[in-house]
Amino acid sequence: KPVIAIVGRPNVGKSTIFNRIVGERVSIVEDVAGVTRDRIYSSAEWLTHDFNIIDTGGIQLGDEPFLEEIRQQAEVAMDEADVIIFMTNGREGVTMEDEQVAKILYKTKKPVVLAVNKVDNPDMRDLIWDFYSLGFGDPYPISGSHGLGLGDLLDECAKNFPEQDDTDYDDSVIKFSLIGRPNVGKSSLVNAILGDQRVIVSDVAGTTRDAIDSPYEYNGQEYVIIDTAGMRKKGKVYETTEKYSVLRAMRAIERSDVVLVVLNGEEGIQEQDKKIAGYAHEAGKAIIIVMNKWDAVVKDEKTMNKKIEEIREQFVYLDYAPIVFTSAKTGKRVHDVLPVINRVHDNHTMRVQSSILNEVIMDAIARNPAPTDKGRRLRIYYGTQVAIQPPTFVVFVNDVELMHFTYERFLENRIRDTFDFEGTPIRIITRARD
Ligand code: GDP
Repeated sequence: KPVIAIVGRPNVGKSTIFNRIVGERVSIVEDVAGVTRDRIYSSAEWLTHDFNIIDTGGIQLGDEPFLEEIRQQAEVAMDEADVIIFMTNGREGVTMEDEQVAKILYKTKKPVVLAVNKVDNPDMRDLIWDFYSLGFGDPYPISGSHGLGLGDLLDECAKNFPEQDDTDYDDSVIKFSLIGRPNVGKSSLVNAILGDQRVIVSDVAGTTRDAIDSPYEYNGQEYVIIDTAGMRKKGKVYETTEKYSVLRAMRAIERSDVVLVVLNGEEGIQEQDKKIAGYAHEAGKAIIIVMNKWDAVVKDEKTMNKKIEEIREQFVYLDYAPIVFTSAKTGKRVHDVLPVINRVHDNHTMRVQSSILNEVIMDAIARNPAPTDKGRRLRIYYGTQVAIQPPTFVVFVNDVELMHFTYERFLENRIRDTFDFEGTPIRIITRARD
């Protein structure tokens, strides 16, 4: 999907516009404890256009001086986006800060669309003429508070979307990414995996994607490591800005089939680890937990089990994810990673037979009767798998209100006991049958 980033000095109304464009998007997955959505990155639709949008103003860098902060936000936009919306405030005219932003944006080869916000009614259109001086062509008048002009602005953005998404890989290719806090060893692990002599690094000449991703082959299976470039990228904004590393992780997650959540064995599990893993879970990806730097841990025979216990406690919702202990430094267990990726990918794409599924459901009801509410009992008629990646089941019932979260969880566990869904979230959707 193409990406739009909104850039501009503070208080021009970036987040208002962002929220207008994104609208109220309700996640179909119930909120996982501890996972709060950062409203700086979202998918969005406008008429026939389907894209992702970033509010760089939401990437706060702490007490940076204005120029440094805006420079870093613009850097993110220039790196991540296909089209940049440069936002200004019509009521204040062109300010010196706008000119500073413009100067930074002159360096990008990406298309920049100039938006003049707070043009709340047609009488105010004359406010836009000044903005030609910024050198980005026609200014687009918009009003965040009234929701005006957004259609024209987004049409102009869409004209500049890349012809074709160059990141489409064949369905048979397993796409995976390594996500985690800075310095947990993601790029070292990538190097260790790619350095394995049995891996054949493919040569995808003439495309830009090999600069971003690393395609290769192992035992006849093709893989792509998503966003290798991003993992290797070092620098202030990448290393120290939590929101930015979360944003990068979210983008990598979106393009992946399998996500490796990399943790640093030397350190305890941190909030940010959980947040990043939470996104992968919410996105419905196959997930593997990789406990890296295991070489650096002083161990006795109990250490590994204790660590597993800690992981299970901290990542309650990831109880399905296998855990691999690796050392990118010594190479130990790095060769385990690919077979586990194959396994969870198989499970993530598994389709189960309806007849067996329904036996499982009926057996579950027999063991643990469905809940009642005000004298009415939940009746489950039948279930069917409607999707893979992640495996998604629709269960038809008499009244969706009667299906409780705990019962859904119970059904999920019964399904997991029967089929091997290790490494993949599964979704259950309840529908009323009339
Ligand atoms: P990234 O930011 O997650 O990509 O982390 P890097 O791959 O850049 O690694 C950060 C630091 O940890 C580097 O100094 C690595 O040499 C070191 N490192 C990475 N993996 C391991 C490991 O398995 N064991 C040890 N002891 N150090 C590691």
